[in-house]
Amino acid sequence: MRIVRTVDEMTRWSLARRREGLTIGLVPTMGALHSGHVSLLRALRPQVDLLICSIFVNPLQFAEGEDLDAYPRDEDGDAAVCDAEGVDVVFMPDTMYAEGHDTRVTVGTISKRWEGAARPTHFEGVATVVARLFGVTRCDVAAFGEKDYQQLAVIRRMVADLALPVRVVGCPIVRDDDGLALSSRNVYLTAEQRARARTLSQALFMLQREASGGLRDATILEERAATRVNSDQLEYLSVVDAQTLEPVDSVAGPCRVLAVAHYGTTRLLDNVEVS
Ligand code: AMP
Repeated sequence: MRIVRTVDEMTRWSLARRREGLTIGLVPTMGALHSGHVSLLRALRPQVDLLICSIFVNPLQFAEGEDLDAYPRDEDGDAAVCDAEGVDVVFMPDTMYAEGHDTRVTVGTISKRWEGAARPTHFEGVATVVARLFGVTRCDVAAFGEKDYQQLAVIRRMVADLALPVRVVGCPIVRDDDGLALSSRNVYLTAEQRARARTLSQALFMLQREASGGLRDATILEERAATRVNSDQLEYLSVVDAQTLEPVDSVAGPCRVLAVAHYGTTRLLDNVEVS
């Protein structure tokens, strides 16, 4: 397994492999790898000749006062995980941006609500780094988790709108035994917060069961679920159209429930399918 630390070296390697006719898969991450990230690596490994895992804590997607500096980092642990999963290249650049970088990729309506409303520059940062990672790695296919459901929708929109030659694969959420969605940020939780955090996924699963049982009214479903979440602040818990992410009045077609709850200073995201 090769560790690449510069954009130039990554670009040269990718171009050379493409000229040899080899296919390339990319799993973009911010590191502190866990089983959720591993599921993305395992989804792509059989589909490509060469697998790249990028690890870059992207300053562009953090706003002032967010956890950029505190974000968990574990280079050696991450390299060991990648090696065990048959990754060919771990791309861990110190920076993704050359001197004078002055381009941002802005995706429209789908990036405005939910996470976009809470973190106004977040998706611009995500779309910009992902577009650049696609350019640098020349990947044929890239995997993203449904854990960040809106992010996946933003990336699909960008790829379609800019006709980027990359196939996007969405992978299901990997959860702890008690249902909590795995996240690098879970390490911030105290034992007491971690114990309460399981109520977020439990409330979403209960909503899913109630919808399957025939309860269709979105407001009632949301209110019942909200009372079950034991958090310090429930920022949003909304039934939305699975494609547009616009709120719905009733569960009539494919929907998703998007939720964010705060535990102390930690924001936890989760979502489930309902239809
Ligand atoms: P991050 O390192 O948090 O930027 O995540 C990198 C990728 O892993 C993103 O596509 C996430 O959606 C995905 N991911 C993170 N947590 C999970 C999880 N629990 N299950 C599935 N995918 C995940």
